Amino acid sequence: MKYKQKNNFFESLSEFDNHNSVVFVYDEKTKLRGYIAFHKGGFYIPSFGATRFLNYRNGTDAVRDALRLSKLMSYKNALAGLSYGGAKAVLIEPKGKYSKNALLKEYARHIEKLGGSFITGTDVGITLKELKLMMTKTKNMVGVVNNPEKATALGVVYSMEAAAKNIKNKKSIVGMSFAIQGVGKVGKEILSIIYKRASKIYISDINTKTLRKVKKQFPRVAVLSPEKIHKQNVDIFCPCALSNVLNSESINQIRAKAVIGSANNQLKSIEIGETLHRLGILYCPDYVVNAGGLIAVADEYEHKKPNKARLNKKLQGIGKRVEKILSLSKTSKKPPVIIADEMANRILKNFR
Ligand code: NAD
Repeated sequence: MKYKQKNNFFESLSEFDNHNSVVFVYDEKTKLRGYIAFHKGGFYIPSFGATRFLNYRNGTDAVRDALRLSKLMSYKNALAGLSYGGAKAVLIEPKGKYSKNALLKEYARHIEKLGGSFITGTDVGITLKELKLMMTKTKNMVGVVNNPEKATALGVVYSMEAAAKNIKNKKSIVGMSFAIQGVGKVGKEILSIIYKRASKIYISDINTKTLRKVKKQFPRVAVLSPEKIHKQNVDIFCPCALSNVLNSESINQIRAKAVIGSANNQLKSIEIGETLHRLGILYCPDYVVNAGGLIAVADEYEHKKPNKARLNKKLQGIGKRVEKILSLSKTSKKPPVIIADEMANRILKNFR
């Protein structure tokens, strides 16, 4: 692990990007331990970012994840046209005996004390039931009125449609082939939308129970082991599980024409995005493609009453942004991820 030579611990981490603040949430009794990183916002305007509950190796790994994901949230907000800051909470799964419900309720009390500067919801490791439990302790949680997983999945499919012209010179994804890595909440939703339109769908998941259930519901899918899913010769590889799935090893194995999926931080580094571009593999930036969940919870935050048509119009905007980024990439010959980063940085330049 390499640290830059800086005075402060947070500044010394390579994921640090002039973040506004990092809050440590702690409670000895319930074994609550975690961090909330505020990349942008949190002072005058609220910051949005979901809460992740994970078996981190140590506190430093958790902080690094929070720093990296909160920056991604700022970019996501910026390109989704939302004027909120980006933040992220990560909670460290305790060792030994503990009550997750008690820990989460205590965490929710901490969120309430932040006075609305941080608005959060569910991410990996937190269920809808647990979100509802936390909501009994704070007003600053979202994700029960609009379904963020469904919205994320729709945004991913709108992105696939926007990219179809570049992949196959077609206006729709009908007849295309797909490989979905991870059929959890979002992956399964994507599967249900594309199932009848696809010529072939491969899926994989490390959870065999999940795989069995999904195969039963969607019998036409072909199940593959996790080592094989990204190597398929398909139109679209759709990562919906892990971060860093596109790395120096995996990019030489990818045979898909495009990578479009919901997972956060798919690229191990920006250089990988550039290499994909050189290899002629179309990579649609994750934080543009997967903004549907954020758009849905922001809509819930802003409006008391849900409105399907209003939300769907906002989600269709994701497809339009992907189209614009791909068109600028073509004319400038720059990778889409560089175009998207430049757009986000321009928006965030004067944003605290
Ligand atoms: P989830 O935990 O419900 O699903 C992830 C699935 O991936 C699980 O079924 C898990 O078993 C599987 N998995 C883990 N490692 C794997 C591997 N090596 N190979 C194959 N499968 C593997 O999570 P989710 O809410 O569906 O989110 C999926 C991804 O999308 C995450 O990266 C998340 O950060 C991102 N995302 C989610 C949302 C949302 O609204 N839930 C929004 C934006 C981004």
